[in-house]
Amino acid sequence: MTDSSLAPYVAHDSRTRGRRYVESPPAFRSEFQRDRDRIIHSNAFRRLVYKTQVFVNHEGDLYRTRLTHSIEVAQIARTIARALRLNETLVEAICLAHDLGHTPFGHAGQDALNECMRPYGGFEHNLQSLRTVDELEERYAEFPGLNLTFETREGILKHCSLNNARQLSELGERFIKRQQPSLEAQIANVADEIAYNNHDLDDGLRAGLIYLDELREVPLFARVHDTVGRAHPSLSGRRLVHEIVRRMINHVVVDLIETTAMRVREARPADIDAIRARGQPLVGFSDQVAAEHLELKRFLRDRVYRHYRVLRMTNKAQHVMKSLFDSFFARPELLPTEHHLAARQMEAQAGEAGRARAVADYIAGMTDRYAIGEYERLFDPAKRS
Ligand code: MG
Repeated sequence: MTDSSLAPYVAHDSRTRGRRYVESPPAFRSEFQRDRDRIIHSNAFRRLVYKTQVFVNHEGDLYRTRLTHSIEVAQIARTIARALRLNETLVEAICLAHDLGHTPFGHAGQDALNECMRPYGGFEHNLQSLRTVDELEERYAEFPGLNLTFETREGILKHCSLNNARQLSELGERFIKRQQPSLEAQIANVADEIAYNNHDLDDGLRAGLIYLDELREVPLFARVHDTVGRAHPSLSGRRLVHEIVRRMINHVVVDLIETTAMRVREARPADIDAIRARGQPLVGFSDQVAAEHLELKRFLRDRVYRHYRVLRMTNKAQHVMKSLFDSFFARPELLPTEHHLAARQMEAQAGEAGRARAVADYIAGMTDRYAIGEYERLFDPAKRS
């Protein structure tokens, strides 16, 4: 896309607010291409393939993982960004990085680690994604982390408590002033929601946790189900499900593009600073689709995320997380050498909270199967240590 075809309020890479460590510009790529490429080459990105979205990795090969989730989010967000003449590459970088700090075992893992870390400043996966790209990745001679641009980091940090915002200087500012990030970051945020609402529905059906008949309680689903039924009366099974899901995604994406374009036209932002200065996001659904999306979300919460089979998985996951944390925190010498050294160093700087953070970094970086393996090596007498 040429510069002149981009909107005036785009996050433009020639006007980036820069990197934490100054680097010369890339020769053949834009700044945001470089960010995206660094994210794809990171260890944390490769681990996403073995991290749970809703279903623990060993439940089946067809379920979404954090990696396929991140790719679906990026694909949806790129369509939206391109339609709105925004920066497609920046959006892609943000989406591919948005879950890099996620713990093993999905939200159950994050909640368990947050609980363990409560006395030591808590654990937020958004903040951990930022910590991963800023500090934890070890790839470059000149700097720690990936040294990404402000714009990518701004997009990764979707939410953040006020307490943490105060310690983040320029990135924390918008949470304190209650302002917005770039439109690209706003798009990545909503695309995340569109992706998981639809793929969790698909995965929930595949797992036999929910059925088409009960999904008809969700108005958006019922409407699309009827439309598909009229067009293809004999369609059934997986093709019927996929035809419905793809139309649902299309429906909400089109609504999002049209509604956002209208709001932007009304607001007439001169540049990205005008976007950032706003108190409310400009990217969003129409009232009707927002309400429909919320209904779908509620249905998934009640029927999928709280299904007894999912709760059994999350219960086990919480037990594994807590056991690992308690053991490593009480006896850091049980950690592999480099993490033990990090724990000692961080404890020297910040006391028990430092030690706890080093343990949280180690556990958050684990894949599902690695966490289960560590649990067995610590607690199963028959396993090698
Ligand atoms: Mg996500």
